[in-house]
Amino acid sequence: MLKKFLKEVITIVVGKNAEEIVELLDTKKHVNEFIISKKLDLTINQTRNILYKISDQGLVSSIRKKDKRKGWYTYFWKIEVLKSLEFLRNDLMKKIEQLENQVRSRETKRFYVCDTCHIEITEENALSNNFTCNECGSIFVFKDNTKILKEMKRALEKLKNDLGLVDNEISIESKKVEVGKMKVINKEEKEKKKVRETKRLERKVVRDKLKKAAGKTKKKTPAKKSKKVDKKKKPKSKSKSAKKPKSKTLKRKSKAKGKK
Ligand SMILES: [Zn+2]
Repeated sequence: MLKKFLKEVITIVVGKNAEEIVELLDTKKHVNEFIISKKLDLTINQTRNILYKISDQGLVSSIRKKDKRKGWYTYFWKIEVLKSLEFLRNDLMKKIEQLENQVRSRETKRFYVCDTCHIEITEENALSNNFTCNECGSIFVFKDNTKILKEMKRALEKLKNDLGLVDNEISIESKKVEVGKMKVINKEEKEKKKVRETKRLERKVVRDKLKKAAGKTKKKTPAKKSKKVDKKKKPKSKSKSAKKPKSKTLKRKSKAKGKK
């Protein structure tokens, strides 16, 4: 069903004769344009013209790679399924709207025809022409809309049915795209986790080394800490009286250490 819809899209955008390109473009990876041209049995310029037409509608994506020997770029192409389905959906909506307008018109207005020229006009216009054909002078005859209305309604049903099927394909494709995105996100998360984990381990190794080093010179570390505390407090207490108790606490601490 999806392939059929994609072919319909290419038929609308380029023409029926180009629809086979879908078989080559509906892939996971981008396809070399020279391979496309070879498989379609077209020149590279013909192939590119088709691809550019589809690209103008944003329904294909491309990547380019530089040929190291020749120095030119080769393009690789892939159809954008979701965008193509949405394009088809819009096209169907337009057609449905047009046909609904026509049905409404047939149901509410009366039409006349010239059987010789097969010209059809509204009753209003027929009246202003005295029911006489401008081309051949024949008399217009009333047209029975029953048959044409039946055909229009049948076509409308088919279009609406197609719209439902396209909507279904769109939801399937959206899920695929969503799953693809999640896979990429999960992959990135896993890599980030790995990086975090290795960094954590590295830090742990450094910490362990520092701890070991600190274990050998245990007496120095508490002294450092008390100095830091002093530095922080100093700017707050500028007055001489504030400085005095500090020196006392230091003395007390040093006394306490002496007792141990
Ligand atoms: Zn006529």
